[in-house]
Amino acid sequence: MNTTRKKRNARFSSHGSNPRRRNSRGRNKRQRKELPIDLMKSLSIQPEQEIDEDKYEVTKTFNDFGIHKPLRALLQKKEYTQPTEIQERSFDSISAGDDFLGIAQTGTGKTAAFLIPLINRMIQERFKVLIIVPTRELAEQINTEFRSLSKGFNIFSACLIGGTNVGRDLDKLRKKNDFIIGTPGRLTDMSQRRALKLHEFEVLVLDEFDRLLDMGFSKDINSLVAGMKNKKQTLLFSATLEKNQKALIDELLTEPEVVKVHSGGNTTATVEQKFITVGENQDKFDVLNQMLLNSDFDKVLIFAETKRTVSRLCKSLKQNNIRTDEIHGDKTQNYRKQALKRFKEGKVQVLVATDVAARGLDITNVTHVINYQIPQTVDSYIHRIGRTGRAGKKGKAFTFVN
Ligand code: AMP
Repeated sequence: MNTTRKKRNARFSSHGSNPRRRNSRGRNKRQRKELPIDLMKSLSIQPEQEIDEDKYEVTKTFNDFGIHKPLRALLQKKEYTQPTEIQERSFDSISAGDDFLGIAQTGTGKTAAFLIPLINRMIQERFKVLIIVPTRELAEQINTEFRSLSKGFNIFSACLIGGTNVGRDLDKLRKKNDFIIGTPGRLTDMSQRRALKLHEFEVLVLDEFDRLLDMGFSKDINSLVAGMKNKKQTLLFSATLEKNQKALIDELLTEPEVVKVHSGGNTTATVEQKFITVGENQDKFDVLNQMLLNSDFDKVLIFAETKRTVSRLCKSLKQNNIRTDEIHGDKTQNYRKQALKRFKEGKVQVLVATDVAARGLDITNVTHVINYQIPQTVDSYIHRIGRTGRAGKKGKAFTFVN
């Protein structure tokens, strides 16, 4: 903890960005309607109210699954000794080539839940897998997990995401690839250039499906799916299952095995939630600054609603000698990747982000999540605070309310 932080003199205006403003492209984005404070407060539900899923006890080990020996060795190297719930409950149907619907959040081990059986099958038979995810960071995270689980098997992947060089992606697609992991826009682009030949793919994985829909990707997904004329298996993972997703899910899956897993950590049990009301004579940024000077605030993820607010907040915190970085849609992919790495490695104390970082990202030991502005939806709130209090650790979430 840096104890030499100097007296802060920079100012960050909490009124600096009007959340109801049109976005920079002039599009009339979704109305930025903030959640009522009462509703936000009612989210600090007690643990006993939240547990609505039966407790499940994992009984198998990876040795019980008929996993090829070299893959078992890689699992051991990664210290995956026992499957997680979603891994145990999905292995047989994914291995059998059945469709699968997993209601599981990040942190439950869902990435390995689809990678292990698919890689295990691919050691014997060749087929191509297309994995579609909502964010670039999640795509890279899956690609990293894939590489560590396929080392030495002559099975290859390419990660195709927005914000990177198109020519390089075209080069990647000229090489042999068994797994393609990407975001909808870039995958659609590659398909339209006829570099990505969708009819070659037999397995489709849609990860963070609810988020894909939230982000307005249903058109891209429909056109990608339509091009997969030889699709034999679809695996769909979603943190939530909402009514408005049902029709599309029914269309995508044929007689799927459906598994809903416990989130692996009950947010309200592991995350202490507090709401901060800033008085008329107080400056919100000053309050934030004071909090960050506290030595407990070791690895802090701050969320704001707009890219502009994130940038301004980051700049002001840096001016106050707080090691801070930022992630949002206006940053290049390389910058986002490096910023996340610096945060994960503890080289910066604070990462300020838009909702880009709310879901999917697996960052260990985040001590605090701070909502500098109230998120737009309950879902967003739950995902944001779920970045802390993970893997058996306790976390704290603070939300500024006006
Ligand atoms: P995910 O839900 O896919 O984001 O995974 C969350 C974290 O769990 C990642 O850091 C994985 O490396 C880790 N993980 C996945 N499967 C296992 C396992 N069987 N044993 C231990 N850790 C695991």
